[in-house]
Amino acid sequence: MPTRGELGKSLMLSISHIPHGRSNRSGSPLQPKYITVHNTENSSIGADAEAHANFLSKTGYYIHNGSKRWVSWHFTVDDDSCVRHLPLNEVGWHAGSSQGNAHSLGIEICMNKGINQNRAFDRTKTLIACLCYDLNLEPESRVVTHRHWSGKNCPRLLLNNGQEGAIWQAFIADVRAILNSIDDPAQI
Ligand SMILES: [Zn+2]
Repeated sequence: MPTRGELGKSLMLSISHIPHGRSNRSGSPLQPKYITVHNTENSSIGADAEAHANFLSKTGYYIHNGSKRWVSWHFTVDDDSCVRHLPLNEVGWHAGSSQGNAHSLGIEICMNKGINQNRAFDRTKTLIACLCYDLNLEPESRVVTHRHWSGKNCPRLLLNNGQEGAIWQAFIADVRAILNSIDDPAQI
């Protein structure tokens, strides 16, 4: 039975916050009630967590219909690292829905060429279990897909034909199993 601290350490978390003053720092307070899961949709070689940290800190927008759409989220996870881009108490812009942004942490799972995808998923499950533990969130009701908020086919690799199905349910069941395995010293 791992402790919460041991599980957290296994993630090798690094913190690379988007600099203050950048246009993709909302500055808006967040009390996380949900965790929103994404896939990066970037299958390029090297599009790992560090590359996304660089993107968020130095660019931070996509061009959509000719104008900049600023984006930000809280964590990116790949098969050997995990980077935090925002404080957990600050709104990010990732859900394609004001409700989703206002109430959830955003986690992007990498899918770059050559990644050990299952390992990336497993590490994401560990991260989510730690967050559920810390924030007292139930995975079955509070860990949701990007699709839940906006209808987008995201996280594509965890959906069945664009819908939450068996793959997503198995993912959540694994998060629940990790969460239940945490050996909480407060519970004697
Ligand atoms: Zn998404």
